[in-house]
Amino acid sequence: MNSDDIKRSVSEILHSLPSHVKLVAATKTRSAEEVQAAIDAGIKIVGYNYLQEAEKIHEVIGEQVRWHMIGHLQKNKAKKAAKLFDMIETVDSFKLAQILDKECAKHNKTMPVLIEINIAREKQKSGVLPEETLELVQKLSGLNHLHVKGLMTMGPLWASPDELRSYFKQTRSISDEIKKENIPNIDMQYLSMGMSDSYKIAIDEGANIVRIGTKLFGKRNY
Ligand SMILES: *Cc1c(COP(=O)(O)O)cnc(C)c1O
Repeated sequence: MNSDDIKRSVSEILHSLPSHVKLVAATKTRSAEEVQAAIDAGIKIVGYNYLQEAEKIHEVIGEQVRWHMIGHLQKNKAKKAAKLFDMIETVDSFKLAQILDKECAKHNKTMPVLIEINIAREKQKSGVLPEETLELVQKLSGLNHLHVKGLMTMGPLWASPDELRSYFKQTRSISDEIKKENIPNIDMQYLSMGMSDSYKIAIDEGANIVRIGTKLFGKRNY
């Protein structure tokens, strides 16, 4: 899509979202020019899957927007990620959290994080298993430079709309369960779920962050 098409689709989606829902533009593979067009049309948050790609675009775009990490974060990238990102949506182990916490302390920064859940228990997928989520959150409550703000899930690519709805419901119910525990330093404020093909279902089921790529920018050319 050219810049005008991107601006039009961004603006359409922004206007269609309920006001309590934040839109993360999933910007993998997009050029700085494409990302800038999206920002010009009102995008406030960009989401990256890879640190290196975020760094490259950050040099051009800078602090016009908030930067979310939405891909699996390798431990050896935590140092740079702590510096660049405004939110890490994909914390899924205590080890990774500890490293991030230590790096954020160096920058005098408290990082908002979401816990990524592997809600469909897919073998190759990152994310914590549903039944292990509460325990991880409890451990993270003791880290002073991370602030757990909710849950994120991808949902399986193979799932039908009805199956996806059920996975989103399960994610929400885990969030509600954690909320009830009233754990110090934990705010279950955000549910990040839904992409181009599923964001409407996700919003129905309680998502207040949606991550959209294709519907804003067109098909990706890898
Ligand atoms: C690519 C991606 C999206 C957006 O996917 P689209 O189908 O292009 O909207 C959302 N979340 C994550 C984690 C992604 O990697």
